[in-house]
Amino acid sequence: MIDPHVHCRDGKQAYKETIAHVFEIAKEQGVEKIFDMPNTDPPILYEHDVQERLKLVPVDRLGDYYLYVGATADEKQLEGAVECYDKYTEVIGIKLHASNSRGILSVVEIEEQRRIYKILSALGYRGVIAVHCEKEDYLKEALWDPSAPITHSYARPEEAEIESVKDQIALVRETDFKGILHIVHVSSPGAVELIDKAKTGREMNVTCGVTPHHILWDNEMLAGQDGLLYRMNPPLREKKSIEKLREYLKEGKIDWIETDHAPHARGEKLFHPYLPGYPSLYLYGDFVNQILPGIGISKEQIKKLTSDNIYEIFGNKIR
Ligand SMILES: [Zn+2]
Repeated sequence: MIDPHVHCRDGKQAYKETIAHVFEIAKEQGVEKIFDMPNTDPPILYEHDVQERLKLVPVDRLGDYYLYVGATADEKQLEGAVECYDKYTEVIGIKLHASNSRGILSVVEIEEQRRIYKILSALGYRGVIAVHCEKEDYLKEALWDPSAPITHSYARPEEAEIESVKDQIALVRETDFKGILHIVHVSSPGAVELIDKAKTGREMNVTCGVTPHHILWDNEMLAGQDGLLYRMNPPLREKKSIEKLREYLKEGKIDWIETDHAPHARGEKLFHPYLPGYPSLYLYGDFVNQILPGIGISKEQIKKLTSDNIYEIFGNKIR
């Protein structure tokens, strides 16, 4: 099984998580290969960052470690990212954070997002662009009140995700992008419906993944004791959305499971700055072996969600 979305931290953030430790958890959970995300400190943007990152991987796990390079609207940086993709088997794709809160990796403005697709198209990039979709204009950050953690789910409503997915699909079309658009951690049924429509029209190569936490829990978790621990982006949704997502998972409208494993120190979550993220790789084994069959997902479908569909998209890179 593969977990194509983890945040291994390491380096300056080794107190949160390390690559070596993620491989230990992965082993316990039955996961063999992982795809790491570029919002590390420093972020993964250039070839030098890729090289430094690979030095942190336990030597015996080098064949199981893959990473994304982050996208900025800077042409030189994108050229370098595509060169890395071509040069390193370990570089699995390019990650676009189409939302706020990621510093240098946040590409909020639609004009800048357009520029990225245009440049990648001009470079002939055929790999995956993995996009975190939450459109800034639809976020209502003023509603966020740490003393009532459930407000986090009101501050980042489903519309923000849906509108951003709409944007990405339109940009792929407009710039004639020939790579694969992957929407990471979908959390709203409306987003899955848009992706499914674009996919079945066969006009573009588009996939989406879902996390265990968005299938397991609704936003009531934020209202409970230690609700702040359940703060993540996108947030946990309402019960009726979870039911729909489970249906779509069953119908094969979601391509794979990705944990978005994102650990922080407990104090960073319970107190300022109340960092978003959940260490969901710990849920993986039970999720796949108990929960998914429990909600009526067949063995064959589970194999697709945890392995086959991922190999189908990244097969040129992973063996
Ligand atoms: Zn993530």
